[in-house]
Amino acid sequence: MIHVGIGYDVHPLVEGRKLVLGGVEIAHSKGLDGHSDADALAHAITDAILGAIGEVDIGHFFPNTDPRWKGAPSKVFLAEAARQVSLRGGRIVNIDASLMAEQPKIFPHIAAMKQNLGAALGLDPKKVGVKATTNERLGFIGREEGIAAMAVASVDLPE
Ligand code: MG
Repeated sequence: MIHVGIGYDVHPLVEGRKLVLGGVEIAHSKGLDGHSDADALAHAITDAILGAIGEVDIGHFFPNTDPRWKGAPSKVFLAEAARQVSLRGGRIVNIDASLMAEQPKIFPHIAAMKQNLGAALGLDPKKVGVKATTNERLGFIGREEGIAAMAVASVDLPE
C-alpha cells in the first residue's frame, strides 16, 4: 500500500556558517543557521518520510536540545528515517523536493544533492527529485534572510 508524506523546513541565512543543502557544501557568503548542519532540504525530506509512515517529526527524533546532534550532518537524520521505513517492512518508492532560495544558484549542485540524498536513504538517485526556485524577491526568502525546502515522500508499506 502506497503512503505519502509531506515535509517543510526553513533555516535562517547568517554570516559565519557553512551553507549545506542536500549534503553539498556550497560556496556562499552566508550559511544556514541551526543546531545541526541546518540542511533544510535534508530535514524536509526526513519529515516527509516520517510523515508517510505516520511517525512524529524530525524534532522529536532529534531534539535541538540534544548535544549529540550539534553540528551533526543531516545524512544521519535521513538514514534514521529510512531505517524506520525498513523496520516496518516498507520501502521508499520515491522522493520529490523543492528548494526555495534567492541566492546562490542551486542548479549546478542538484546532481550532487541527488547523489548524496540517495546514498543516505539507500535509494537510487534517479528516485530523488530535487528542484529549485527563487521566491521572485518576495518575503524573507526573497530578501535572502532564509532558505526553505518542501518535500514529499512515497513509501510502500505492508498492509
Ligand atoms: Mg531543520
